[in-house]
Amino acid sequence: MVDENTLGKKTIVKVSPVTGKLMGEFEICGEQEVKQSVARARRAFEKWVDSGLDARLAAMQRVKQVILKHAEDYARRISDDTGKPMVDSLITELFSIPLFLEHYRKRAKKILAPRKVRTPLVFQHKKSYLEYFPMGVIGIISPWNFPFQLSVIPIISALIGGNTVVLKPSEVTPVTGEVIREMFEEAGFPQGVVEVVQGDGATGAALVTSDVDKIFFTGSVATGRKVMAAAAARPIPVELELGGKDAMIICADANLKRAVRAAAWGGLVNAGQMCISVERIFVEEEIHDEFVGMLKKEVERLTVGGPDQDADMGPITFPKQIQIVTSHIEQAREAGAQIISGGNVMDGPGDYFAPTIIVGVTRDMNIYREETFGPVLPVIKVKDSREAVELANDHQYGLAASVWTSDLKKGRTIASALECGQVMVNDVVASVANPALPFGGVKSSGIGRYHGEEGLLSFMHTKAIMVDPGKLEAEPFWFPYAGKYQDALKAFYMLVQGKFLAALGPLKRMDKINKRAGEGKNA
Ligand code: NAD
Repeated sequence: MVDENTLGKKTIVKVSPVTGKLMGEFEICGEQEVKQSVARARRAFEKWVDSGLDARLAAMQRVKQVILKHAEDYARRISDDTGKPMVDSLITELFSIPLFLEHYRKRAKKILAPRKVRTPLVFQHKKSYLEYFPMGVIGIISPWNFPFQLSVIPIISALIGGNTVVLKPSEVTPVTGEVIREMFEEAGFPQGVVEVVQGDGATGAALVTSDVDKIFFTGSVATGRKVMAAAAARPIPVELELGGKDAMIICADANLKRAVRAAAWGGLVNAGQMCISVERIFVEEEIHDEFVGMLKKEVERLTVGGPDQDADMGPITFPKQIQIVTSHIEQAREAGAQIISGGNVMDGPGDYFAPTIIVGVTRDMNIYREETFGPVLPVIKVKDSREAVELANDHQYGLAASVWTSDLKKGRTIASALECGQVMVNDVVASVANPALPFGGVKSSGIGRYHGEEGLLSFMHTKAIMVDPGKLEAEPFWFPYAGKYQDALKAFYMLVQGKFLAALGPLKRMDKINKRAGEGKNA
């Protein structure tokens, strides 16, 4: 909630999703403050680039030490901020940071190194190279569902290449925004290298139109559209990590026990508030009823509660989500779907929603078409995996998916046929935590990739460099053109036929015309 404090400054009023009690107020940065932060990041940029990759990687190791030192405190504060169980804060927020830091510590030099590339024979004597240079100041706008991880991984990815960063955390989770600010301060990062501007959508909008060189945005499709439109004015590159409606395809030959446990965890971890949450479970008809029965048993043994209750699932972080989840379930129920388990808001304090299984879901229902982002497992019966793939692909989103079969070859074939950014065979969610794999979506799920090599390169400009020894007076392609047409045509036909050596003949004759012109003779 946004309010005004006694000094007349707009504030975020943070209420605990666990207790419903006030946790604190955080001043919202206005346009001027955003500009000042970006200016500090701009001033810090040159020194940060000049410090060199080794120094920057050493700084990243200090981040690792700080996380190690404060892991339990950070997990506690992230859990208080979001309501997620402490185990979730550890495994889905903190775990991946050391994995990524170690991956880049070993590989950043190679990924970012200048390299020689091939030069076609017709460009005789020349050599070609690629180099990368940092874009400058990166604006990072993050959501509330994984407020730590989804901020820190893009931050470190941008910093390693030499960029500086201004982070705008979600107004729903400002406590985690403060954790991140403190972490980089304690790790001894120079002023301006990582700036944090707390605020709401207006603060985010001000960041997009400020003097940043790229926006890395994670959030909803609706906001992503606004961000892209605003960034078009300058224009600056935009990376969009948006929503999903991930398919889980369960073939009749799958290890059913594993598939059931995976469906429950993949759809209900973080109370289903995850972009790569399992949101559509396609089950082959011959095992559908058995699967639903087993899933019901699995879901009904889960416990729901706050971070202090050692529960499997916490509350909904953001009350608005309760309305979306409820409306999807109600609309599906009215349209003929059946709730097998849950389906209701639970008693407070706190915003709890019961883990829900819903069957008989059809394509016209909102629960099928739109992102639900809550603890709901919609199950859809299909004839076979071919129908499942068709349905999975016939959707506005394309973030992640999973395939369940004991035939790994079939699993890979289905994985290849799915239109999305990442697919797991006999697993869920895990690929996002492998730092070697790129992450991102297709269609409405986003534009761009981070993690893996792309994670560093997406914050760099690529520079193409071509070097000629500079000994010839002119190139065969240069002026004068008079008398060159027939040879240019011959060279072209030879190139088309792949006769690269033979193409050098007409080029030599064109060169002779140049020489004669240089000696003052006409062609
Ligand atoms: P959101 O779009 O409401 O907000 C995201 C961020 O954008 C917040 O920090 C918000 O303050 C800011 N913002 C709002 N209006 C803005 C504007 N006009 N200009 C600039 N910034 C603005 O999304 P959310 O509710 O915080 O997050 C949930 C969504 O994020 C879901 O759709 C989820 O699938 C998606 N998500 C995607 C990924 C991914 O990696 N693909 C990861 C997590 C969440």
